Amino acid sequence: MAHRHQHREDLQRLVASSEPLRKLQPFFSNWEDVLSFHARQMSVRFPAGGETSGCAACEAPAPLVPTTLRWRATYGNTRTALVTLLTLLHHSAHMQLDFETHHRFCANCYRRTVLHRVLAELTRHVVFIILLLLGGIFAMSLLWLMVVIMDFTWANFGWFALAFFSGGFGVVGGLWAKATMDRWCIPVPLRFIGKYPFVLYGVKRT
Ligand SMILES: [Zn+2]
Repeated sequence: MAHRHQHREDLQRLVASSEPLRKLQPFFSNWEDVLSFHARQMSVRFPAGGETSGCAACEAPAPLVPTTLRWRATYGNTRTALVTLLTLLHHSAHMQLDFETHHRFCANCYRRTVLHRVLAELTRHVVFIILLLLGGIFAMSLLWLMVVIMDFTWANFGWFALAFFSGGFGVVGGLWAKATMDRWCIPVPLRFIGKYPFVLYGVKRT
């Protein structure tokens, strides 16, 4: 019983901290359970009609806008790197898990959160398109590699290096931009709700 209690306390501490969700994995049998656990904890912590004294982002006093935030995790059980990558970016296919939390924001923070979320979503779509193009460029770099192997000239090697590195840096840069924007669009005091792979998916007046 004491052991069980300790276990529970460790879990509660992790939930309230800024530690990534993968740290919860030892407590559960699979990733899906970790995600539903987080979703449940957060919905309970920020219920509809929950009263707060000030704005959830800047603590400004009333008048406050009651706001529903929708969060979404997209995840896959496939090990295929590219498919997983595209799935993470394009939040439509595959398995997804949504939950809602309820907050009250001052007019400024409400407007800012709506705008930032739209910018983050725009980034997600742009990165998705860029990654599709880079897939092509990367495939081309492999073709050029064949050419380089069969007939080495510096010009051929140059084309290979250009395609290879622009593809590589593009992928890393795109994913970095997406992760940064996903985080940036969440008001700072609420960032622990949107832990990877959850992103802020919707902001609406309740
Ligand atoms: Zn505010």
